[in-house]
Amino acid sequence: MQKTWLKGNIHTHTTESDGDASPEHVAEWYKQHEYDFLVISDHNHLTVLDDAANHPDDWPYLLPGEEVTSRLFGNTVPVHVNAIGIDSVVEPSEEESARVTLIENIDRIRKAGGLPSINHPNYMWALDTEDIVVSKNAWAVEVYNGHPGSNTYGRGGKASVEQMWDAALTAGNRIFGVATDDSHHYHESSPLLANPGRGWIVVRAEKLDRPELMAAMSEGDFYSSSGVVIGEMKNNADEIVLEMEPYDGELFTTVFTGENGKVLAEEHGATARFEPPAGQSYVRATVHSSRESYRAWTQPVFLD
Ligand SMILES: [Zn+2]
Ligand SMILES: [Zn+2]
Repeated sequence: MQKTWLKGNIHTHTTESDGDASPEHVAEWYKQHEYDFLVISDHNHLTVLDDAANHPDDWPYLLPGEEVTSRLFGNTVPVHVNAIGIDSVVEPSEEESARVTLIENIDRIRKAGGLPSINHPNYMWALDTEDIVVSKNAWAVEVYNGHPGSNTYGRGGKASVEQMWDAALTAGNRIFGVATDDSHHYHESSPLLANPGRGWIVVRAEKLDRPELMAAMSEGDFYSSSGVVIGEMKNNADEIVLEMEPYDGELFTTVFTGENGKVLAEEHGATARFEPPAGQSYVRATVHSSRESYRAWTQPVFLD
């Protein structure tokens, strides 16, 4: 069967926690902006819309989720992990450190049948590279988060999330990189607010249902984006071929990285091609756009 690309946001808030719009309003926003699926992930709350009684055609496909939220040490250390594809609330843990809490929350999400995604490690600088490296059961880490407080790119001596991701991959973790909105604000637009539409994933699946989406996401059959559109993609151990869809004169530079985040090759143009070399345990690509600071991230190809 032909597989299709399905666009979704997997980190969203509503009035069921600290978002400023109802779940119905939020779901409609994503449908109107041509998202195929959506994970509503309120803090410590499983928000479920009654799609039998309402208007499923007005919403994207809804995959149930929760942002498992531990507020440690008087909420000075936020440890947030998204639980994707769960059927009941996962209670947040509160352990003696951020690291132990993180590992415990990830394990609780796995036990509940969900995919655990480590959210915004640099929000309030709560987590560091080693925290991600020791989180062996994590499914993903947010390589991009659209919330203005997420400090996605590090600085001031702090690692970017992309550097943390490469450290975890180099340590042998099978962990993916996701881009998300972490949207809270639907009524007013500003770079200082957490607006929708900034980060998403595009999953390659046979159809739009829960088992197919969960399987494709679990296997890393998707790419992540903060604005770059990839039309065609081959992503295997023999070759990586990316064909971007430029918008209005947009130009691209694609960087292929391996162990320790080492740059293996760099290519300019709307098509980027690379043969993963021997001796690397993984290779992945980051596409940089001339528009804004838009990027796309492919999932790592594991080579041994
Ligand atoms: Zn959060
Ligand atoms: Zn959030």
